[in-house]
Amino acid sequence: MTDKTPPLHACDDFDPNSVHVDEARKRILDTLNTVSGIEQLAVRQCLSRVLAEDIHSTIDVPSHINSAMDGYALQGDDIPADGTASLDIIGRAMAGAPFPGSVATGQCVRIMTGAKMPQGADTVIMQENVTVEGERIIIGSGHKAGQNVRQAGEDLATGECVFSAGKLITPADLGMLASMGIAEVRVQRRVRVAFFSTGDELRSVGQPLGDGQIYDSNRYTLHGMLTRLGVELLDMGVIADRRDDIENAFQSAAQIADVLITSGGVSVGEADFVKETLEKIGEVNFWKIAMKPGRPLAVGRIGQCQFFGLPGNPVSAMVTFYQFVQPALQRLSGQAVPPPLLLKARTTSKLKKAPGRIDYQRGWLETDDRGELVVQSTGQQGSGMLSSMGKANCFIVLPLESKGIEAGSVVTVQPFAGLI
Ligand code: AMP
Ligand code: MG
Repeated sequence: MTDKTPPLHACDDFDPNSVHVDEARKRILDTLNTVSGIEQLAVRQCLSRVLAEDIHSTIDVPSHINSAMDGYALQGDDIPADGTASLDIIGRAMAGAPFPGSVATGQCVRIMTGAKMPQGADTVIMQENVTVEGERIIIGSGHKAGQNVRQAGEDLATGECVFSAGKLITPADLGMLASMGIAEVRVQRRVRVAFFSTGDELRSVGQPLGDGQIYDSNRYTLHGMLTRLGVELLDMGVIADRRDDIENAFQSAAQIADVLITSGGVSVGEADFVKETLEKIGEVNFWKIAMKPGRPLAVGRIGQCQFFGLPGNPVSAMVTFYQFVQPALQRLSGQAVPPPLLLKARTTSKLKKAPGRIDYQRGWLETDDRGELVVQSTGQQGSGMLSSMGKANCFIVLPLESKGIEAGSVVTVQPFAGLI
């Protein structure tokens, strides 16, 4: 044999024309930029939106030095090196109602968590560590000067760049914006995503099933995955396997959406018109990706509209969405795209696999009673078995060259939680 590539066994699954998953993801991301358009919104409306401006704090948070405990505020120098000391209680400081005077040596102020530290005091002793005798307290040694006090601006300082443009806004961020007194921020407009299913066999929920027909589930899983990403959804329903219908649907989606996602019809079967229609009216990159499930994927554009043709099998559609479409939507929305979050876990199941493709098997990841991560297979792994996704909380990612894994080995997992 003159070819340097070693001959493949019949059971090998490698296709020399296939693209590696990481390479395909990189090629997709390299062509994409943030969609244009900015909106100014009230903070509560900004959850899961992407900041379009840097946010600098105009105030210190907290705005004043305050107590971190319920107790007594005093001068650190009054803490005895050994034995005890006795201090006069000269007043009270409550959260929102500061003590107006000043604390001198030998004195203290009863203080509550969040109350402004009185002038002169720099230390708080917890009430549990104090003996109260009428209008005096007795304290022992072992306390540190300056303890239990929160400094002004220790959370956010005036002028500090708190968030950079491109930040995905989380619940904590809503609270931080409110803590700075900010009522509105500028965010990127949402990415508009149109999607439809292709297939003569597909019926929508509510219609009776005829012979050989199935319900369209991909539009529902897509609805769920897209909703979590905070994009604007345009559900275009089911399109039959007819060239004209598919072309018309492509044209109308391209007028209104930034992204079009289809499922089905990207293989090389007799009713697979997605790829040829895209070739006719747009640009197409058709890839056989060295992954399982989900080998065929059509990526391209129709005018300004980015196109993803996902495979029809329900698990393949989800796996390709998470590996390629989700990062693409993150990039288009203006977010930084983190690399996939991968962890190591011990598999309690034996995992079957042929070499040649990266396998995204479905697993259940948990912590065992020794505190270690363990994963088990959800069972049957057919790409038509959506129940394998429903039972899973992670992908078990088996490398291209793997020929199967024995129970007890360490494998790579990609938790679903990190995919949202
Ligand atoms: P295709 O990619 O069109 O060749 O479809 C591959 C397999 O996925 C076939 O068994 C289809 O019936 C099934 N399929 C395609 N689209 C859907 C859908 N939207 N919902 C459920 N199954 C589908
Ligand atoms: Mg089909």
